[in-house]
Amino acid sequence: MQTYTVNNTAREVAEFLKGLKKVAVSTHTGADGDAIGSAVALVRLAHSLGKEAVFCYAEEVPGYLQWLLPSEPLQECPPDHDLLVVDTSRADRIGTSGTHQVRLNLDHHEDNPLYGEMNLVDPKAAASAQLVAALYAEAGVLLDKEAAEAIYTGISTDTGGFRFRNVSPEAHKLVADLLRAGVVPADVDYRINRTGTVEQLNIVGASLSNAQCYGEALISVVDSSDYERTGATELDSKESIDRLRTVSGVEVVAHLREIEDGTKASLRSESVDVGEIARRFGGGGHRLAAGYTTPKSPQEAKQELLEALRGTVDLGNLPVRGRQI
Ligand code: AMP
Ligand code: MN
Ligand code: MN
Repeated sequence: MQTYTVNNTAREVAEFLKGLKKVAVSTHTGADGDAIGSAVALVRLAHSLGKEAVFCYAEEVPGYLQWLLPSEPLQECPPDHDLLVVDTSRADRIGTSGTHQVRLNLDHHEDNPLYGEMNLVDPKAAASAQLVAALYAEAGVLLDKEAAEAIYTGISTDTGGFRFRNVSPEAHKLVADLLRAGVVPADVDYRINRTGTVEQLNIVGASLSNAQCYGEALISVVDSSDYERTGATELDSKESIDRLRTVSGVEVVAHLREIEDGTKASLRSESVDVGEIARRFGGGGHRLAAGYTTPKSPQEAKQELLEALRGTVDLGNLPVRGRQI
């Protein structure tokens, strides 16, 4: 794939969008609230600008985000559409197949290499959805309630409900506009956080009870036996990541979950560059929130991660504190 290295302004990108006819919007694999919220809001903006616009995504959209979708996503991008990608740090993480050139790369990951023909990449943005909102403003398109809810979903989920270090006065100011456009935060919170299943609740419980502390590192491993016992999935278990961040003296939190061909890892910190650690394993993400996938079993992945953390955080004197599993 050709590499472009120029970052563009919201004004340039809004002008660029106006010149397109048919657009396909996609986002990263393992979509989260910002991925879907940004994509849905960008599709709506394109419609408002009189374009044909579709959302393309080959994976299943997580249940807690399906209310955002006006229609089922297309599995593949139509060949005659221009591809716009949101919230995706690298081109190989786009959640659709195809050989499209990426015409727009809109994102807020620090490690984004500007892989699009046009790039709107701002690591200071709390969420990619904040950048989509900037395009509405530049294009002179008013936010309707549906677009505002999609953008609010991106910002509120990527900031952990306005608690993480990426929140800013600009993000809060935008949220005030979103509320004026009709967003009711309690309604969005209900749809995202209060429509789960008891199986999901049980796997989160398993994640919490499997947590172990190694000095300043806390690691929780969930494997197929946990999925069998609870009837929940790997993705359901990831929900626990923020609840693992409550132990005093912990600098890095890791959630390792078994998948069919290995292990998926989520890393979080308040101070350590976990993006750099994730990149050592072929993953990536933000400085304080990152992830990777490894072909190793969960227990092997845990040992490998502890080795990688040695020298970065104090792992204390093994053995560990916490339930032995
Ligand atoms: P997660 O822990 O899956 O919520 O991901 C946290 C951050 O890391 C997100 O910004 C993801 O885009 C990024 N990330 C997760 N897994 C990977 C991966 N395999 N490669 C690159 N970035 C990733
Ligand atoms: Mn995302
Ligand atoms: Mn994001």
